Amino acid sequence: QAKSNGRNNYQFFTADMNARASERLSLETSMRDALSRGEFEVFFQPQVGLEHGQIIGAEALVRWNHPTQGLVAPSKFIPIAEESRMIVPLGNWVLRRSCELAAQWQREGLPPITIAVNLSPLQLHQSNLLDLIQDALDTAGLDAKYLELEVTESVVMQEVEHVMAMLHGIKQLGVKLSLDDFGTGYSSLSYLKRFAFNKLKVDQSFVRDISSDANDAAIVLAIIGLGKTLGMSVLAEGVETDLQLEFLRRAQTDSIQGYLYSKPLPSDAFRLLMLENRPLKMPEIELFH
Ligand code: C2E
Ligand code: MG
Ligand code: MG
Ligand code: MG
Repeated sequence: QAKSNGRNNYQFFTADMNARASERLSLETSMRDALSRGEFEVFFQPQVGLEHGQIIGAEALVRWNHPTQGLVAPSKFIPIAEESRMIVPLGNWVLRRSCELAAQWQREGLPPITIAVNLSPLQLHQSNLLDLIQDALDTAGLDAKYLELEVTESVVMQEVEHVMAMLHGIKQLGVKLSLDDFGTGYSSLSYLKRFAFNKLKVDQSFVRDISSDANDAAIVLAIIGLGKTLGMSVLAEGVETDLQLEFLRRAQTDSIQGYLYSKPLPSDAFRLLMLENRPLKMPEIELFH
């Protein structure tokens, strides 16, 4: 009895694995030509300064309009792109496209903002990365100070010397650097000291229950304190509610990014949002008295 159950479970398990493996394979295969077919698109999510409630930047987030599967979420294709190394050409394309749009918006007279582009660990290992970044800026006609590159903690932990040298090179180009998803990886605080990131992004998993979970609240306060002490600007990710905003404002978070102000938008919609110039509504409620 147990034996046959075991076998059934085994068969069920392999069938499921086969299904997932073939979905993976089909995504990987269709991703190969997706770039040249123009199926990728860059969306932009505003980052809002809490001093004045205005847009100060935007994160570039890639989207894939798959011909048969519709919009595929990054959580589904980014890991596959990393494994197949497709993330390198894809990431470089996102970088160039983001610089091009940022420069175009500035030429139209929109207030200049910083565009933050995610950089995969594999991209950091391209020996010509600095040239690629400089070329993306030059081709677009964008001043380096308007570009920010986001790396995660995991990046800093692998091949530390190479990565540190690359990050310093990026900084020397005049490009800004931010540490993404902070608190979820294994970064050692000594690297934070050794390398001065311009910005620390508090991961959304800590922000979610900030106003109900005392541990999350304490962690976020500690991260903000750490960032400020080390001279970094602190941004909170995944801000969805007025309660979260109020907590973060009191804790002197510099900026936020999240659905409360706006979801990531197609470039045209983002451009219209900038034209609209709508400030973030700051709640007036007094919470901690
Ligand atoms: P990330 O860099 O941490 O980006 C933030 C993610 O949080 C985005 O998910 C964004 O849509 C989502 N988000 C923003 N505000 C909220 C909110 O209020 N609530 C919730 N629940 N989520 C919010 P997205 O666009 O699905 O991207 C997921 C991840 O995929 C990114 O996380 C990043 O790691 C990766 N990714 C996206 N685009 C690129 C890219 O061009 N290159 C690389 N290397 N990775 C990318
Ligand atoms: Mg990011
Ligand atoms: Mg993040
Ligand atoms: Mg994330």
